[in-house]
Amino acid sequence: MILYKHFDTNDRGHLTVGGLDTVELAKKYGTPLYLLDEACIREQCRTYINSARKYFGEDALPLYASKALCFSEIYRIAAQEGMGVDCVSGGELYTAKKAGFPAERIYFHGNNKTDKDISDAMDMGVGTFVVDNEEELSAVSAMAQDRGITQRILLRITPGIDPHTHKAIVTGNVDSKFGNAIVTGQAMSIVKKAIATNGVCLVGLHCHIGSQIFDVEPFSDAARIMTQFIARIKDECGYEISELNLGGGLGVKYTKYDREVDYAQAIKDISEIVHGLCRENNIKMPRIILEPGRSLVAASGATLYTVGSVKEIPEFRNYISVDGGMPDNPRYALYQSQYTALIANRANEPADYRATIAGRCCESGDLLGENMEIQRAERGDILAVLVTGAYNYSMASNYNRLPRPPVVMIKDGADRLVVRRETYEDIVRNDI
Ligand SMILES: *Cc1c(COP(=O)(O)O)cnc(C)c1O
Repeated sequence: MILYKHFDTNDRGHLTVGGLDTVELAKKYGTPLYLLDEACIREQCRTYINSARKYFGEDALPLYASKALCFSEIYRIAAQEGMGVDCVSGGELYTAKKAGFPAERIYFHGNNKTDKDISDAMDMGVGTFVVDNEEELSAVSAMAQDRGITQRILLRITPGIDPHTHKAIVTGNVDSKFGNAIVTGQAMSIVKKAIATNGVCLVGLHCHIGSQIFDVEPFSDAARIMTQFIARIKDECGYEISELNLGGGLGVKYTKYDREVDYAQAIKDISEIVHGLCRENNIKMPRIILEPGRSLVAASGATLYTVGSVKEIPEFRNYISVDGGMPDNPRYALYQSQYTALIANRANEPADYRATIAGRCCESGDLLGENMEIQRAERGDILAVLVTGAYNYSMASNYNRLPRPPVVMIKDGADRLVVRRETYEDIVRNDI
């Protein structure tokens, strides 16, 4: 086992994912290649669903934040597992619809939904809009009234929490492009406006405080602020908020230096706090919505590359260059995200070499990691980066006109293509 039970080695000393030899998979599909272990994703869905129902009540619903990893098959899996989903754009909504995801279980997010997005979402019957701001509230109300419907909405609230995580992925602070802050009075203002607006039905509130959070404390801080706010709405407006979406953000173990999160325990701990806070604030326990992205899919993934040049610069560092990079995984370039890498065809050898793993783009910041502990590499080796299920494929680009890699799903010892490799023809298809 390497970090997770679906990563292991076989008797040839090769890295396996879900029991399959990655060196063989690289031969079959080419590189770069995204692999996903389906059982791992489904198990995480079940952990969230079972724990949410057990600790928050039968009506609790975890949503899969589909920006983390988005293609048709993932929506089918989420639907089969009984999840809701969070979509943030017309493109995600379209993919969910094409995959047959039940529209009433979609929550439509985003800080700047276009009129077309709103209109398309209503046409497809999206269950709930998470309204970000007053202009959007007016637009949603107008379009709902045009259609003679009442759109179910949540309002996005910024509780003003620093979840002790990387600044670039902090979204619950007051100074944020997302939502309405409680301390500035803007949250109460939009609540009152929503209650009085036709065409919408305010059912609840949403907050999302950030990502890659390992402690329960920031969630309990957010829950405290949100339940107090729900109590104030009850007092000031005589209005009952019946749904509370606590967002996503639970952390994931990317390297041996990260802690492992017990998700069921975390949900139990958060639920005990929320139950206590509702009693304390004398409000009815709202229906709880959770919104995990990363923690549902990150661990399932691995990316395979072929090693090209290995460059040793005396007294500086060693570079291992691979046939992918920031176009298939921009997270190191964006946030210096840490990963675990290994040479898949010599996975049992000691990782006693230090190297910077470089991509193939014309950009010196195109790195997958620096100072990484890895096996010695040579041209033609298969290099694997683990835990790439979240925010890799979904953030991939065609920078340098590199075609996006395919996605292969592994289940019960069998591999199947779920997203095909882009071709050069795909790359030029919109050129005129
Ligand atoms: C990104 C995001 C999530 C998921 O966050 P993870 O850290 O991937 O769990 C959930 N809700 C909202 C609104 C988000 O923006």
